Amino acid sequence: MSEQRFLLKGGKVLGGAVTDLLISNGRIEAMSPSFSDESSTVIDLKGSVVLPGLVDLHTHLREPGREDSETVASASRAGAKGGFVALSAMANTSPVADTAGVVEQVYRLGQEAGFVDVFPIGAVTQGLKGEQLSEIGAMADSVARVRVFSDDGNCVFDPLVMRRALEYIKKFDGVIAQHAQEPRLTVGSQMNEGIISSKLGLKGWPAIAEEAIIARDVLLADHVQSRLHICHVTTAGGVEIIRWAKARGIQVTAEVTPHHLLLTDDLASSYDPVFKVNPPLRTTRDVMALRDALADGTIDIVATDHAPHTSETKDCEWAEASFGMIGLETALSIITKTMVETGLLDWSAVAQRMSIAPAEIGRYSNHGQNLAVGSPAHITVINPTKSWVVDRDLVLSKSRNTPYHGYELPGVVTHTFFGGQATMIDSKVIDKAVQ
Ligand SMILES: [Zn+2]
Repeated sequence: MSEQRFLLKGGKVLGGAVTDLLISNGRIEAMSPSFSDESSTVIDLKGSVVLPGLVDLHTHLREPGREDSETVASASRAGAKGGFVALSAMANTSPVADTAGVVEQVYRLGQEAGFVDVFPIGAVTQGLKGEQLSEIGAMADSVARVRVFSDDGNCVFDPLVMRRALEYIKKFDGVIAQHAQEPRLTVGSQMNEGIISSKLGLKGWPAIAEEAIIARDVLLADHVQSRLHICHVTTAGGVEIIRWAKARGIQVTAEVTPHHLLLTDDLASSYDPVFKVNPPLRTTRDVMALRDALADGTIDIVATDHAPHTSETKDCEWAEASFGMIGLETALSIITKTMVETGLLDWSAVAQRMSIAPAEIGRYSNHGQNLAVGSPAHITVINPTKSWVVDRDLVLSKSRNTPYHGYELPGVVTHTFFGGQATMIDSKVIDKAVQ
């Protein structure tokens, strides 16, 4: 760990009062309206907003198995660029992260890269097949201390398997993160089922395929008194079910992706597979319901569902293309555009939804803490008065499948500090010095 001291001057903590922060030994050593410290590297943050470091609960890092599309190291750098200090590595790798051996490998790769903490997510079932439970206990007891389990990419569709998984994870305070997709209702589905899918002749993906699983699983979570997390909610109906479940005191949390807060299914009219994603882009009515749900807390967090794909698997006909889009480097700007500039969230609420609550759901105890003296120095800085134009050829991810190429987005993430170490300064990622 670097001994370097940083004095962050003139930034607004959570968008409020101007506060200087002194970082040393990995922690926030002092906070004050204004002071000087000659032994520190001074960083001028006038006009910027200082947030606790961002935590992503849903990231596809693709290693092991698809290192041509992304690696733990490349995703970690892309994460630092986007203001993240912790990523949660989804289990649908090759081999699948369904044993202690694989999750420990991913965890160690994250430590070696050193830009963020990489918290592996364990598969719920062996090989993501939805049949036999994976080595859940061994993964929880491993060095990686896995607390989040998901078959993401696949739905845990068998209600008995889902019930057993929810029961099993209770003993170590785990959570099942469900990719809610009723498989029988989505065979061959290509995009949201609606007017646009009929017009384009692409097989539809009905909202109820998502909502039926959410409804079933909140009832199961209630029945066995366990913790359930719903990945990437996309429909107004899904929001209504989660709102009902929370009102009943059911232990359910939910996430929404940045892209589902902005993009809609009419983009499929271009037949550009960069807009092909699972779950699919929905309607404007759904987007507005998701924004309101994130604002009122029905949806707890933003998660990127960063899903890198090579051009071989993405630059082809819509029907053949892989599902997914990258999102680490644009997430905070999309939230600035959809939630802050619209007045739906203030910066304190953004910190809650992109740092504090995701760390709480994942039980990442060293993350998601309020900016206070003594807290770990995980810090993200954004200048909301500046804007930038997304260029897919400049992303740090190994894959280029951003849906925002050419978009002008508000909010430039300028600095990231991970455990007191600067991983990005003035929008430039800092590669570790050779040791
Ligand atoms: Zn998913």
